[in-house]
Amino acid sequence: MEKNPVYLDYNASAPIRPDVADLMRTLMAKPGNASSIHSFGREARHHVEGAREQIAKLADTHANYVTFTSGATEANNAVLKHFSGRRVLVSAIEHPSVLESAPQAEKIPVTRDGVIDIEKLEELLSGEVPALVSVMLVNNETGVIQPVEEVARLARQRCPGVHIHTDAAQAAGKIPFAFAALGVDYLSLSAHKMSGPQGVGALLCAPGAEPVPFLHGGGQEKRQRAGTENVAGIAGFGLAADIALNHLDSFAQLSRWRDDLEKTLREAAPEITIFGQDAARVANTSKIGLPGIPANTQLMNLDIEGIAVSSGSACSSGTIKPSHVLQAMGAPEHLCSHALRISAGWATKESDFKRLAEVWLKMYSRVANKIVRL
Ligand code: PMP
Repeated sequence: MEKNPVYLDYNASAPIRPDVADLMRTLMAKPGNASSIHSFGREARHHVEGAREQIAKLADTHANYVTFTSGATEANNAVLKHFSGRRVLVSAIEHPSVLESAPQAEKIPVTRDGVIDIEKLEELLSGEVPALVSVMLVNNETGVIQPVEEVARLARQRCPGVHIHTDAAQAAGKIPFAFAALGVDYLSLSAHKMSGPQGVGALLCAPGAEPVPFLHGGGQEKRQRAGTENVAGIAGFGLAADIALNHLDSFAQLSRWRDDLEKTLREAAPEITIFGQDAARVANTSKIGLPGIPANTQLMNLDIEGIAVSSGSACSSGTIKPSHVLQAMGAPEHLCSHALRISAGWATKESDFKRLAEVWLKMYSRVANKIVRL
């Protein structure tokens, strides 16, 4: 009998919550541009503004600071491109939507555990005053939580006038955070990483921060982001944020199954490396390197058995390049393209982890004798 498929690639895209899909279906069936004055338009506006409140609540901030975008990629592009031509510092482990929007940026190194290196940051801050510092709140490949509050405090102490950005796409719905307490000016969010729809996100902008208008045309989103609002998507995002906020405790429970999996694999295969294991991580993510077997071979072996995991960020996994995150962590070159990312979420069951362990161990026993021990 066919085994049930197992989806453990939530950091690439989390399955949408059924209540979110239901709400979106209802709203998609209704006409109305949120800028129109008639009753249909007013109803659409009501859903957009309700969602703005829900997103603000997730980040413990004011709805006024929330601008809807097409996702975290757009939010990151808006901020990083706004500061082009000025001195910018970004962590070496940022998502490509940050790194490629700021090719001139200087990289802040990370430690072997995948946490930003505060001493190296201090050295970089002692040079010319940067206009922007961008450090993500949670890394998408390892799940390692970054000390963004400390980064912001240090940067402001040393460099008055500096702007701070954090990409919180992989933090939202996984750990609690407050926009003001982080001390940042800009914060990027993505709906589909927290079980909302794909193609929607937000940029939070603190009062006093330089505005970073990105798309020009209509006057939507207080002239910060032109274009007719995606009403169903935005409403779905709002509901997903609300549900995620109410389920932070159950999300935290995922670490038990994740830690059991890591223990099981390590006992059978002591040569594996679990990246960021000694750092604070979000509960759902595990990045496991197995020397000798390229990540795409591992992925295909698991896929044949109906198990979906990833080699890292979905954006670059079509072509399995060595992971820039693992390289920045100083991982040996042979491991940088030999690691799998397992990421769970709201619909994951303990049996999913057990099945992954079973299939992974079967794969390992087939190839173990061929592994070149380096
Ligand atoms: N930042 C991080 C940390 C991510 O993991 C992702 C998604 N891979 C993005 C940004 C891009 O988000 P979106 O898909 O909403 O554009």
